[in-house]
Amino acid sequence: LGIQDFLRHHIRTVPDWPAPGVQFRDITPLLQEPQVFRVLIDAFVHRYMGRALRPDLVAGLDARGFIIGAVVAYALGVGFVPIRKKGRLPFTTVAQTYELEYGSATMELHTDAVQAGDRVLLIDDLIATGGTMMAGRKLLEKLGAVVTEGAAIVDLPALGGSQRLRDTGLPVFTLVDFK
Ligand code: 5GP
Repeated sequence: LGIQDFLRHHIRTVPDWPAPGVQFRDITPLLQEPQVFRVLIDAFVHRYMGRALRPDLVAGLDARGFIIGAVVAYALGVGFVPIRKKGRLPFTTVAQTYELEYGSATMELHTDAVQAGDRVLLIDDLIATGGTMMAGRKLLEKLGAVVTEGAAIVDLPALGGSQRLRDTGLPVFTLVDFK
């Protein structure tokens, strides 16, 4: 069994959540089993440990990106910064609004979270339309950081987000596809 199928087997699909017609890919079972959690984290750590791809910092997207991103950062021996939904960060922030299927959302980042020139790995649990990851990238770039790669556990390629991100020049790395 390859790693992609091993991990896919531990992702639960919940029909009609949070809305009718949505097939929600629930990653919580991946975290629950210690051996599975280790395989998941090690897949990212092995990729980013090497000299070429090792970032200065990991940025995690609210909220499941915090779980994966913080553990990967710890294992790499680099710092972690959270990119949060609007209104949650206490210090001075930069903000980025992006379009959702219905309406819009805003993400924020502390202005001192990164330094100009920092090489940042951006992590979330899943890429659908790519809007969330694109907003995170823009926030980091507003502060002069360089986003070296966008990483996620799951890609939904049919929604085109990972391709759109790549088309803008952002390398994208994911472990599991759901067609
Ligand atoms: P996007 O901005 O790429 O359209 O949506 C990705 C964001 O929505 C991520 O932050 C992700 O956590 C969340 N998301 C959307 N659909 C799903 C899903 O089916 N499963 C999970 N775990 N997260 C989802």
